[in-house]
Amino acid sequence: MNDTVARLHRTFNTGVTLPLAWRRKQLDSMERMLNENRKALEQAVYRDLGKPAPETALMEIKLVTNEIRFVGERLQRWTRRHPVMMPLLMQPSRGWTVAEPKGVVLVISPWNYPLMLSLEPMVDAIAAGNCVCLKPSELSPNTSGLLERLIGEYLDPRGFAVLQGAVPETTKLLRQPFDHIFYTGNGKVGSIVMEAAAKQLTPVTLELGGKSPVFVDASANLDVAAGRIAWGRFTNAGQTCVAPDYVLTTPELVEPLARKIAAFTRKFFGDNPAKSASYARIINTKQFDRLARLLPADGETFSGGETDREHLYIAPTVLINVRPDDPVMQEEIFGPILPILAVRNAAEAVAFINEREKPLALYVFTRSKTTRLLFERHTSSGALGFNLPLGHLLSSRLPFGGIGASGIGSYHGKAGFLEFSHVKTVTSKPTFPDTLRIAYPPYKRIVANKKRSRPSEPVIHDK
Ligand code: NAD
Repeated sequence: MNDTVARLHRTFNTGVTLPLAWRRKQLDSMERMLNENRKALEQAVYRDLGKPAPETALMEIKLVTNEIRFVGERLQRWTRRHPVMMPLLMQPSRGWTVAEPKGVVLVISPWNYPLMLSLEPMVDAIAAGNCVCLKPSELSPNTSGLLERLIGEYLDPRGFAVLQGAVPETTKLLRQPFDHIFYTGNGKVGSIVMEAAAKQLTPVTLELGGKSPVFVDASANLDVAAGRIAWGRFTNAGQTCVAPDYVLTTPELVEPLARKIAAFTRKFFGDNPAKSASYARIINTKQFDRLARLLPADGETFSGGETDREHLYIAPTVLINVRPDDPVMQEEIFGPILPILAVRNAAEAVAFINEREKPLALYVFTRSKTTRLLFERHTSSGALGFNLPLGHLLSSRLPFGGIGASGIGSYHGKAGFLEFSHVKTVTSKPTFPDTLRIAYPPYKRIVANKKRSRPSEPVIHDK
């Protein structure tokens, strides 16, 4: 581990990552890696998560290749000097900013989108000119193992390393010197990562989770809302960080909405989702047991609720009559369970959301402009989606990240490029005429123009 990280620092110090040609070559190679090994990657993710291949193709591989194209096309522009106007006092002089790579970046990724969440931060880090050490999740070993092999084969081995391991190895890794740490996962570990980073004053990006709410009002198109909520919640068996976690709606809409969402799950996965080739499984028994404990024992399940521990299967489940103090409302669900709670109106929904930690995403289904404005102005979340869950994840033009308990910093596209860059300020002043001399000591009293000076203006006094 020591040798590997030291090697990456040595590589970075040679300047090999600085030319855009090197960065482009790595990005092209990564795209080739994804295209040439598509089947193997889909199979690896399937073995880890039972994730259907088309879902991996769209939500993992395609998102990464889109990001590669997006940043590749803009790299030249983003790395240019940006001149700024210098104040009169400093004339004659010039100033500009330039984005420089931070150095060696550690990317720690989770298991739920094991390809996308490992490679997309890497794309942004490469675009910014960094070396990268990737620590993929030990909970998705098939994908993590394949990534290690492929990254070794396709990318410049001087600039990249994949280190496997669980908690003990990652704890040691966090003691190594890095120039930036990019962590995706749960908040508890997020604070462990930040504490370790603080010891070395290493900047961090924390992409965390939390409960992402949905509000549906009476003006919404209920059919569209139900379909989109069902898709957002039950894709990857609910193991998506920005999936709708719970729904707030007015009392008369609770049952009709629950019925429509349940109908959509049947459309998506048939009467028995356990037999559907489009429905994923829970990652492991630990997560399965945690989710099983969140299912109510008292028959309050509106639809779904079936479980099969041996095959890590939990049916797409809709719950109604849920109380805010029920276990399912105390933690991020991160599984195929969707509680629907009643609130009297939009204002009560806003109050409910604001009493809790700031979510990674918030979704509002409404046709009312007033309601849209109410949520936009009076709630805070990583992202806000009107009538569309998960949509912001799909665009490289939009920064992706959380706020408060849902994360620190953001990435994708330019936001990602900047996250892995230091924007350096550069100034340059000619040596002739040497106008700076007027600021040199010994100081002379500045004879203020009485008409123009105000009493609060600072005055340089004689020594
Ligand atoms: P996980 O268990 O795979 O952990 C993530 C990474 O942290 C892994 O690489 C793991 O090895 C490492 N890790 C675990 N414990 C550690 C410790 N004590 N010290 C150092 N490193 C440690 O994944 P997870 O945390 O279960 O992932 C699910 C969570 O991640 C959910 O809360 C979800 O919302 C969130 N998430 C957020 C995003 C986002 O983009 N914001 C994306 C996906 C998942």
